[in-house]
Amino acid sequence: MTSAYQPNIPHANRDILLGAAAGIAIGLGVAQLPEGSTAHGSATWLIGLLGGMFVAALKMLMAPLLFASVAGGIRALWAQRDAGRIWQTTLLFFAFTAAVAVTLGIVAANLFQPGIGLPHDLLPVAAAAREAPDAAGFLQKLLVDSLQNPFRALTEAAVLPLIVAALLLGAAVGQQPQRFATLGRLIDELLDLALLVVGWVMRLAPIGIGALLAKLAATATAAVFGALAKFAAVVLGTTLLHGVVTLPLLVWLLAGVPPWRYFAGIRLPMLTALATSSSAATMPVTLRSADHDLRIDPAVSRFVIPLGTTVNMDGTALYEAAAALFVAQLAGIELSLAQQVIVALMAMLAAIGAPGIPSAGMVTMVMVLQSVGLPVEAIALLLPIDRLLDAVRTMVNVQGDLATSLVVERLVGRSRQRPAA
Ligand code: ASP
Repeated sequence: MTSAYQPNIPHANRDILLGAAAGIAIGLGVAQLPEGSTAHGSATWLIGLLGGMFVAALKMLMAPLLFASVAGGIRALWAQRDAGRIWQTTLLFFAFTAAVAVTLGIVAANLFQPGIGLPHDLLPVAAAAREAPDAAGFLQKLLVDSLQNPFRALTEAAVLPLIVAALLLGAAVGQQPQRFATLGRLIDELLDLALLVVGWVMRLAPIGIGALLAKLAATATAAVFGALAKFAAVVLGTTLLHGVVTLPLLVWLLAGVPPWRYFAGIRLPMLTALATSSSAATMPVTLRSADHDLRIDPAVSRFVIPLGTTVNMDGTALYEAAAALFVAQLAGIELSLAQQVIVALMAMLAAIGAPGIPSAGMVTMVMVLQSVGLPVEAIALLLPIDRLLDAVRTMVNVQGDLATSLVVERLVGRSRQRPAA
């Protein structure tokens, strides 16, 4: 697990920041062009092409990278016999930060009441039938679906089954290293290879990220300034609070990494998450920054990050909790404290179940709304503003994985020497 794969890319970070700034400026410019004009059409086409290819390239690498990194990570952990502690600490920290996130979401929604005072006809069907909560069914499906033919999971890039298969493979290889020596080497080489190609793709990141942000800037702005502006502002503010204050503070207190060094280290994955709205597509970049910018022990990061990419989503949990309360306010339904606790638990579960792809949270949102009998149709109302909110919550989702890696590394006593700030 050495870093032979790393081509040094001078100025990569600076170029990506420049690309991002240029992209936003171009997007705002494109939004000014008359819709239907040739210039608008061509610019939109080109932006879509460049951004689409960049995301496709990252996604192409996701399945092999995820599989090899989890299998390799667990193999290495097993060999060193501290797998149990890393597991437990990781899951505990995932749960703790998610609980903080939903609490923030619920407190903010109660405090600012973004849904009060809006016209009731905003909601397509105000008083929908109260359906029974379906958490048990959801959990059952999640657990059964996580066991799948690994070859199918690999070709379909089904994240949860892939993780389970990789965990089993890694554990078996780690338990009998002599017997499965060739497989062990194969896993390591596959990981090195995938990371090498990630380095190549990242050379194109200034263009790819620029194009994605241009698209976002060109299309997402107008919708937000509608009736939903207050809700969007409350969610954005609270999500940013979690990302800029809570997580960095925990990292500072528990891992001893000061915010300035932490923010410098997470810059690239943050920007990629903002541009792609997908934790899964960002994962190659997240792993790369864990290695090269934050210098986290690979035995920790290669286990925590791929797992966290799908189960650890603080931003999504916060959003789903706040959105459920918003919908209740809109529909004029008063939620009791007990019902708000159910919302909080369901939001955490829904975030675990959401895959790391754009707007996945909107799909699992159904479950949260149903759990307390809120109208599911409200999703139609939330969708138009989801592009911007999704981009921001994905940043927090991704950040949570890096924060957890740092904290777990320190708590289980695996910290290596980091370079001075
Ligand atoms: N887009 C988010 C992510 O990939 C998931 C969500 O929709 O909340 O992390």
